[in-house]
Amino acid sequence: MISIDPPVEGLELREGEPLAPRTTLRVGGKARLFAEVKKRSALGPFLRFAAEKGLPLLALGKGSNVLIPDEGWPGAVFVLAGEFREWRCAGDLVQAGAGVSLMSLAVGAAAQGLSGLEDLSGIPSTFGGAIRINAGAYGTELFDLLVAVEVVSPDGSEARLDPSAVRHGYRYTELMEKSDIVTGGTLRLWPRPPEEIAGRLAMVRSRRQAALPSEPNAGSIFKNPPGLIAGKLLDECGLKGKRCGGAEVSAKHANVIVNTGGATARDVRELMAAMQGAVHERFGVTLVPEIELPGSRP
Ligand SMILES: Cc1cc2nc3c(=O)[nH]c(=O)nc-3n(C[C@H](O)[C@H](O)[C@H](O)COP(=O)(O)OP(=O)(O)OC[C@H]3O[C@@H](n4cnc5c(N)ncnc54)[C@H](O)[C@@H]3O)c2cc1C
Repeated sequence: MISIDPPVEGLELREGEPLAPRTTLRVGGKARLFAEVKKRSALGPFLRFAAEKGLPLLALGKGSNVLIPDEGWPGAVFVLAGEFREWRCAGDLVQAGAGVSLMSLAVGAAAQGLSGLEDLSGIPSTFGGAIRINAGAYGTELFDLLVAVEVVSPDGSEARLDPSAVRHGYRYTELMEKSDIVTGGTLRLWPRPPEEIAGRLAMVRSRRQAALPSEPNAGSIFKNPPGLIAGKLLDECGLKGKRCGGAEVSAKHANVIVNTGGATARDVRELMAAMQGAVHERFGVTLVPEIELPGSRP
């Protein structure tokens, strides 16, 4: 039994937590240790505890871009909850914790008459997960809006970064190459008439509903190669409907894998390999995964 003594206020620990329900693809095994960090003051003690026990760490947001291995995670999986789900605005600046949902942030900002997040509103992400990968949609990327990024390193030291000093690009930031934890950030938004913000939010919602399947999925599985569209290449290979076990290339979107029920991580990986193989054979293009595969060798 793994326990922390004395207990830390704002830190809940559980062993053997199933992770599949915590991902949008509904795939993967259990976490050896699962932690809900609800107070900012609990993060440092939790990180020290995990280091002392030799437990490899895995941050989990909404689990919308992650393929958890069937064997689960041999260390400590943690979510940033409680205080990390708070946000506030001052003028045109919005400061939010990493655990805030991007959708609720967009809707909350809209209620304050602040525009900027509408295009990103349909991404089923936490703010922290979206910062880490520089999530984007319809021509807007999160780093277009950020004026500060807050991180904590595994040794517990905190830093406030200037986003222009963080290397970033399409579905990439250098934070993805580090083990720092994103704890929050600040956005600069701008005033816009509420009916215009509401109109853009509604347009984004209906475009996404039309484009994406309703079965459990992780959004785009592969990044768009420079100048190309991964979904188009996959579609031209006739891959819609291709299956490996319970994993299937969506009939609606060829760059999305759906879990038809009972899919394993192994099924998903096999299907990904078949998709990459088909595109490489036909177009000579190597598709790079957008979904993250923790615990697997690059
Ligand atoms: C239906 C659907 C549509 C999507 N559409 C889009 C889209 O339009 N644009 C787009 O960019 N993406 C899209 N995605 C992908 C996904 O939503 C984004 O990549 C999102 O930013 C992932 O955030 P998350 O909080 O779910 O992170 P998770 O999936 O939980 O984690 C992803 C990775 O980030 C790490 N991580 C999570 N939180 C933190 C943190 N606080 N600090 C450090 N590391 C962390 C995890 O360890 C993991 O490696 C879509 C996904 C789905 C399911």
